[in-house]
Amino acid sequence: MFKLIDLPYAPNALEPVISEKTISFHHGKHLQGYVDNLNKLIQGTQYENMPLEEIVKTSTGGMFNNAGQILNHNLYFEQFQAPQHEENNLPTGKLAAQIEKQWGSFQAFKEEFTNKGATLFGSGWVWLSAQEDGTLVITQEAGANNPITKGLEPLLTFDVWEHAYYLDYQNRRPAHLQALWSIINWNAIEDRFSK
Ligand code: MN
Repeated sequence: MFKLIDLPYAPNALEPVISEKTISFHHGKHLQGYVDNLNKLIQGTQYENMPLEEIVKTSTGGMFNNAGQILNHNLYFEQFQAPQHEENNLPTGKLAAQIEKQWGSFQAFKEEFTNKGATLFGSGWVWLSAQEDGTLVITQEAGANNPITKGLEPLLTFDVWEHAYYLDYQNRRPAHLQALWSIINWNAIEDRFSK
Protein backbone atom coordinates (compact mmCIF):
# COMPACT_ATOMS: atom_id res chain seq x y z
CA MET A 1 0.00 0.00 0.00
CA PHE A 2 1.21 3.44 -0.86
CA LYS A 3 0.73 6.39 1.50
CA LEU A 4 0.28 10.08 0.93
CA ILE A 5 3.62 11.79 1.69
CA ASP A 6 3.77 14.31 4.52
CA LEU A 7 4.79 17.78 3.41
CA PRO A 8 8.17 18.90 4.81
CA TYR A 9 6.63 22.34 5.60
CA ALA A 10 3.38 23.80 6.93
CA PRO A 11 0.52 24.01 4.37
CA ASN A 12 0.71 27.83 4.41
CA ALA A 13 4.55 27.98 4.35
CA LEU A 14 4.82 28.58 0.59
CA GLU A 15 2.51 31.62 0.55
CA PRO A 16 2.19 33.85 -1.38
CA VAL A 17 3.83 31.76 -4.15
CA ILE A 18 1.49 28.80 -3.56
CA SER A 19 -1.52 29.41 -1.31
CA GLU A 20 -2.63 27.14 1.53
CA LYS A 21 -5.83 26.56 -0.45
CA THR A 22 -3.93 25.29 -3.50
CA ILE A 23 -1.75 23.05 -1.29
CA SER A 24 -4.82 21.63 0.42
CA PHE A 25 -6.41 20.66 -2.91
CA HIS A 26 -3.21 19.68 -4.71
CA HIS A 27 -1.71 17.55 -1.93
CA GLY A 28 -4.83 16.66 0.05
CA LYS A 29 -7.20 15.92 -2.85
CA HIS A 30 -5.34 15.40 -6.16
CA LEU A 31 -2.32 13.49 -4.81
CA GLN A 32 -4.47 11.61 -2.28
CA GLY A 33 -6.71 10.58 -5.18
CA TYR A 34 -3.78 9.16 -7.17
CA VAL A 35 -2.64 7.23 -4.06
CA ASP A 36 -6.13 5.80 -3.48
CA ASN A 37 -6.53 4.88 -7.15
CA LEU A 38 -3.16 3.14 -7.35
CA ASN A 39 -3.80 1.17 -4.15
CA LYS A 40 -7.04 -0.16 -5.68
CA LEU A 41 -5.41 -0.97 -9.02
CA ILE A 42 -2.43 -2.93 -7.62
CA GLN A 43 -4.54 -5.22 -5.41
CA GLY A 44 -3.99 -8.85 -6.39
CA THR A 45 -1.66 -7.98 -9.28
CA GLN A 46 2.08 -8.41 -9.94
CA TYR A 47 2.45 -4.74 -8.97
CA GLU A 48 1.19 -5.19 -5.40
CA ASN A 49 4.61 -5.25 -3.70
CA MET A 50 6.62 -3.41 -6.35
CA PRO A 51 8.48 -0.17 -5.56
CA LEU A 52 6.80 2.91 -7.07
CA GLU A 53 9.64 3.57 -9.57
CA GLU A 54 9.37 0.00 -10.88
CA ILE A 55 5.62 0.37 -11.42
CA VAL A 56 6.25 3.59 -13.35
CA LYS A 57 8.90 1.88 -15.50
CA THR A 58 6.86 -1.26 -16.28
CA SER A 59 3.14 -0.42 -16.29
CA THR A 60 0.75 1.16 -18.80
CA GLY A 61 -2.71 2.76 -18.82
CA GLY A 62 -4.39 3.75 -15.56
CA MET A 63 -1.76 1.98 -13.47
CA PHE A 64 1.00 4.02 -15.11
CA ASN A 65 -0.93 7.30 -14.90
CA ASN A 66 -1.60 7.00 -11.16
CA ALA A 67 1.88 5.68 -10.27
CA GLY A 68 3.55 8.35 -12.42
CA GLN A 69 1.53 11.11 -10.84
CA ILE A 70 2.47 9.91 -7.33
CA LEU A 71 6.18 9.82 -8.19
CA ASN A 72 5.97 13.23 -9.92
CA HIS A 73 4.13 14.88 -7.04
CA ASN A 74 6.40 13.39 -4.37
CA LEU A 75 9.43 14.89 -6.13
CA TYR A 76 7.52 18.17 -6.65
CA PHE A 77 6.28 18.74 -3.09
CA GLU A 78 9.57 17.64 -1.48
CA GLN A 79 11.63 20.23 -3.40
CA PHE A 80 10.09 23.37 -1.87
CA GLN A 81 10.74 25.59 1.15
CA ALA A 82 9.37 28.92 2.40
CA PRO A 83 9.99 31.85 0.00
CA GLN A 84 13.55 33.22 -0.21
CA HIS A 85 14.86 36.29 -1.99
CA GLU A 86 14.96 34.93 -5.52
CA GLU A 87 18.33 36.48 -6.36
CA ASN A 88 19.91 34.66 -3.38
CA ASN A 89 18.15 31.35 -3.91
CA LEU A 90 20.69 29.57 -6.09
CA PRO A 91 22.21 26.13 -6.51
CA THR A 92 25.77 25.66 -5.23
CA GLY A 93 28.64 23.21 -5.65
CA LYS A 94 28.70 20.57 -8.39
CA LEU A 95 25.18 21.31 -9.60
CA ALA A 96 25.84 25.05 -9.95
CA ALA A 97 29.08 24.30 -11.81
CA GLN A 98 27.36 21.91 -14.22
CA ILE A 99 24.55 24.41 -14.95
CA GLU A 100 27.15 27.13 -15.59
CA LYS A 101 29.12 24.83 -17.87
CA GLN A 102 26.09 23.84 -19.99
CA TRP A 103 24.01 27.05 -20.03
CA GLY A 104 26.66 29.71 -19.42
CA SER A 105 24.73 31.17 -16.49
CA PHE A 106 22.05 30.25 -13.97
CA GLN A 107 19.88 32.98 -15.50
CA ALA A 108 20.05 31.38 -18.96
CA PHE A 109 19.15 27.96 -17.49
CA LYS A 110 16.24 29.46 -15.57
CA GLU A 111 14.88 31.15 -18.70
CA GLU A 112 15.00 27.96 -20.75
CA PHE A 113 13.36 25.91 -17.97
CA THR A 114 10.60 28.47 -17.36
CA ASN A 115 9.98 28.81 -21.08
CA LYS A 116 9.73 25.05 -21.57
CA GLY A 117 7.12 24.95 -18.79
CA ALA A 118 5.20 27.88 -20.25
CA THR A 119 5.12 26.39 -23.76
CA LEU A 120 4.24 22.80 -22.84
CA PHE A 121 0.87 22.22 -24.48
CA GLY A 122 -1.81 20.86 -22.15
CA SER A 123 -1.13 19.00 -18.90
CA GLY A 124 2.33 17.83 -18.00
CA TRP A 125 5.62 18.55 -16.28
CA VAL A 126 8.92 20.23 -17.11
CA TRP A 127 12.00 18.52 -15.67
CA LEU A 128 15.69 19.02 -15.04
CA SER A 129 17.33 15.59 -15.01
CA ALA A 130 20.82 14.12 -14.92
CA GLN A 131 22.07 11.71 -17.54
CA GLU A 132 24.36 8.80 -16.64
CA ASP A 133 27.48 10.83 -17.48
CA GLY A 134 26.42 13.62 -15.08
CA THR A 135 25.32 16.06 -17.78
CA LEU A 136 21.98 17.80 -17.35
CA VAL A 137 18.96 17.93 -19.62
CA ILE A 138 15.61 19.78 -19.57
CA THR A 139 12.63 17.78 -20.87
CA GLN A 140 8.91 18.36 -21.26
CA GLU A 141 6.82 15.35 -20.24
CA ALA A 142 3.14 15.02 -21.09
CA GLY A 143 0.48 13.78 -18.67
CA ALA A 144 1.93 11.58 -15.94
CA ASN A 145 5.26 10.76 -17.55
CA ASN A 146 8.46 10.85 -15.51
CA PRO A 147 12.04 11.09 -16.91
CA ILE A 148 12.97 7.75 -15.30
CA THR A 149 11.14 6.11 -18.23
CA LYS A 150 13.90 7.59 -20.44
CA GLY A 151 16.73 6.42 -18.18
CA LEU A 152 17.19 9.88 -16.66
CA GLU A 153 17.56 10.83 -12.97
CA PRO A 154 14.92 13.50 -12.16
CA LEU A 155 16.21 16.46 -10.12
CA LEU A 156 13.76 19.40 -10.35
CA THR A 157 10.24 19.72 -11.70
CA PHE A 158 7.47 22.26 -12.26
CA ASP A 159 3.91 20.91 -12.47
CA VAL A 160 2.07 22.64 -15.32
CA TRP A 161 -1.27 20.88 -14.85
CA GLU A 162 -3.84 23.64 -14.27
CA HIS A 163 -4.69 22.26 -10.80
CA ALA A 164 -1.19 23.35 -9.70
CA TYR A 165 -1.85 27.06 -10.22
CA TYR A 166 -5.40 27.87 -11.32
CA LEU A 167 -6.77 28.88 -7.89
CA ASP A 168 -3.92 31.37 -7.39
CA TYR A 169 -2.94 32.47 -10.91
CA GLN A 170 -5.91 31.45 -13.13
CA ASN A 171 -4.58 31.34 -16.72
CA ARG A 172 -1.26 33.07 -15.88
CA ARG A 173 0.91 29.98 -16.04
CA PRO A 174 4.16 31.86 -16.85
CA ALA A 175 3.72 34.12 -13.77
CA HIS A 176 3.22 31.06 -11.57
CA LEU A 177 6.32 29.33 -12.98
CA GLN A 178 8.42 32.46 -12.53
CA ALA A 179 7.34 32.73 -8.87
CA LEU A 180 8.37 29.13 -8.13
CA TRP A 181 12.09 29.99 -8.31
CA SER A 182 11.88 31.68 -4.89
CA ILE A 183 10.66 28.51 -3.12
CA ILE A 184 13.06 25.93 -4.59
CA ASN A 185 15.04 24.17 -1.88
CA TRP A 186 18.35 23.75 -3.73
CA ASN A 187 19.75 21.52 -0.96
CA ALA A 188 17.07 18.96 -1.82
CA ILE A 189 17.88 19.21 -5.54
CA GLU A 190 21.63 18.90 -4.90
CA ASP A 191 21.01 15.78 -2.77
CA ARG A 192 19.26 14.19 -5.76
CA PHE A 193 22.13 15.19 -8.07
CA SER A 194 24.84 13.77 -5.80
CA LYS A 195 23.25 10.28 -5.81
MN1 MN B 1 -0.29 18.25 -9.82
